[in-house]
Amino acid sequence: MDYKKILEEIYNEIQPYKEIGQQATYIPELAKINPDQFGMCIDSLDGKSYSLGQSDKPFSIQSIVKVFALAMCLHFEGDKLWQRVGKEPSGTSFNSVVLLEMEKGIPRNPFINAGAMVITDILMDHLKNPEEQFLAFVQELCGNKNIRYNEKVAVSEREKGYLNAATVNLLKYYGNINNDIERVLQFYFRQCSIEMSCTDLARAFLAFANHHSPFRFGEIQLSSSQVKRINAIMQTCGFYDEAGEFSFLVGLPGKSGVGGGIAAIYPSRYSVAVWSPRLNPKGNSVMGIKALELLTTKTEESIF
Ligand code: GLU
Repeated sequence: MDYKKILEEIYNEIQPYKEIGQQATYIPELAKINPDQFGMCIDSLDGKSYSLGQSDKPFSIQSIVKVFALAMCLHFEGDKLWQRVGKEPSGTSFNSVVLLEMEKGIPRNPFINAGAMVITDILMDHLKNPEEQFLAFVQELCGNKNIRYNEKVAVSEREKGYLNAATVNLLKYYGNINNDIERVLQFYFRQCSIEMSCTDLARAFLAFANHHSPFRFGEIQLSSSQVKRINAIMQTCGFYDEAGEFSFLVGLPGKSGVGGGIAAIYPSRYSVAVWSPRLNPKGNSVMGIKALELLTTKTEESIF
């Protein structure tokens, strides 16, 4: 497959979409980002890498981090985790609290904010130095020791984070948070603030594409069945209330973030990361989704 040529075609064909949507403005630091940027990187399991545009520029990965947090949490907690978080798509936005009250504090899945906060709480119960150990795991996954939290983004999100604060309060009320809620929020926002490039993300997601090989990064280990299950949750819950549309258009398991990034995998073949800050009304990157739709259409490679 000539991925290089396909990437060039994709770049030309996404140009009509370049002014559609806008970057996330509810996080003041993200509102300052130049929206007119685009990068993409494919890493194949046979060791090749193909990139396009600003593929080496770090950006705020936001909710993509929820995949890494789930992986770490599954290592510590195993199937007990599913007593505190569900694995069904929510059909609501990433920050919705509607279902949380109806379902008595058990979030629908680990990729909506409420679910990620429960995962954060569980990690805090297992880790002595949560921020440090979590960052070390992400650095191992992508093989880049320079990955950092962006403290400014985390603080700016906390300042306006009324809805996330309401969510963690509701979870605590229903007994699904053990730790101090302010501390949970702080660690959650820090996770979301991690900056990675498309190159870093493609490398990190290769471990999920490669689910037949051992997943072992530092002390964090998962069985191939656990990695398969993480991929399944990416497929059903990775794009907020647009998970069905993403499946329909692209047909790969993946995860998006409001920083404009999307990481996806074709199991046993490749991982791909794409970034462009302009989002559609559901919070997913406009050019990112289009680029991935073109990729699976042109290559005729998707899980369907
Ligand atoms: N930090 C963001 C929030 O909690 C993550 C949202 C996202 O990327 O989906 O609102």
